Amino acid sequence: MNIAPHPNDLRPIIEADRRHVWHHMLQHKPLETNDPRIIVEGKGLKVWDAAGREYLDALSGGVWTVNVGYGRTSIADAVRDQLVKLNYFAQSAGSIPGSLFAQKLLEKMPGLSRVYFNNSGSEANEKVFKMVRQIAERHNGGKKWKILCRERDYHGTTIGTLAASGQLQRAAMYGPYPDGFVMVPHCLEYRKQWDVENYGERAADAIEEVILREGPDTIGLLCLEPVTAGGGVIVPPEGYWPRVQEICRKYDILLHIDEVVCGLGRTGTWFGYQNFGVQPDFVTMAKGVASGYAAISCTVTTEAVFEKFKDDADPMAHFRDISTFGGCTAGPTAALENMRIIEDEGLLDNCLAMGARLRANLLALKDKHAVIGDVRGLGLFQGAELVKDRATKEPVDEKSVARVIAEAGARGVMIGASNRSIPGLNNTLCLAPALVVSAAEIDAITAAIDGALTAVFG
Ligand code: PLP
Repeated sequence: MNIAPHPNDLRPIIEADRRHVWHHMLQHKPLETNDPRIIVEGKGLKVWDAAGREYLDALSGGVWTVNVGYGRTSIADAVRDQLVKLNYFAQSAGSIPGSLFAQKLLEKMPGLSRVYFNNSGSEANEKVFKMVRQIAERHNGGKKWKILCRERDYHGTTIGTLAASGQLQRAAMYGPYPDGFVMVPHCLEYRKQWDVENYGERAADAIEEVILREGPDTIGLLCLEPVTAGGGVIVPPEGYWPRVQEICRKYDILLHIDEVVCGLGRTGTWFGYQNFGVQPDFVTMAKGVASGYAAISCTVTTEAVFEKFKDDADPMAHFRDISTFGGCTAGPTAALENMRIIEDEGLLDNCLAMGARLRANLLALKDKHAVIGDVRGLGLFQGAELVKDRATKEPVDEKSVARVIAEAGARGVMIGASNRSIPGLNNTLCLAPALVVSAAEIDAITAAIDGALTAVFG
């Protein structure tokens, strides 16, 4: 393995970065005095930065993307071969890797039959919103145009997808937003909104209440994450999903599940919704589709939806949309090889086994550290919510969360935290290691968290 070059070799790069690059999601001031982090190389779960430091990455590339791990030469080789043959053609024409990948993907998604290629999760979600608006206009007499979304969920960075996102930290100050995006309550039982036994059903009933308030004939879509990821690792309680499906059918509302994080194995099934026996009308996916080896996202839907855009007599009937780089062949080529790796290496099973180990380790940490109020997650997306007091559930402050992350980093492990979806509530540590993670690596991750919690909270 190549070890990252000595820091001095990269000093000009670091200075160029400091002067010219606008980093995502970071405050600017600290970068005036500290070196920016530059990641140089990766292999498996390990990455090396420009200072030559080695980290175990428990976040799959910072934002839960590199599902099959770093350094996959078979993906690089497949992409190289395809690029030499044909790098691009607009998606009004098909491509060999696009057709093969669509077919293989849909084998894992019974009931769904059409794939629309884009580049990012945001774009994949925007396409659903546009499809729903066009269906409303052409088939529902202008009705059923509103889109229901949930508090604490995130759907993307564009104005439309931010309107659909229930996360203050992402959405504040970028409005005004387009009309017709309506929030339903989140379903996190740890922070109860209803004092009932069957919490899952009750939380789903809250969606029905919003539908009745808005008028069922105004609502065309319900858009939900299968497990809320950055909004605090929220696994809907038992009873939630079946009731959601029932409500959608009752009011003729299309169900869109945003699998941008959970898609391609993150929760131990190909897709997060497959844990819950629910049947969506739209599924969007991005991050793990090609594990970050190429930019690709997909908007997947049913034949019934596809049929609504068919009318040769009307030149406005088809979906009048294009994504230029949806025609890059690197995406589906990398995605096809990514799926082969997940299958051939049994990564769904590894995800379940290692997810269970991670969860057990976190629960053991909860016994030791009073600051852990709740441990929750599915497969290899796990979270630990930090509170000042277990009885009141008052969240720890943001600075303490940042210190825990820094202390874990000082111990060679990269971990992250939830977004500030509700003021004060960015207090959940998030862990999403690659699906290739080993038992020893899981134990190293939780040992670093143990040390970090002791260093910060005693
Ligand atoms: N949907 C979910 C659930 C996400 O977590 C994200 C990004 O984190 C997105 C959509 C947006 O994806 P992208 O950043 O590729 O546009």
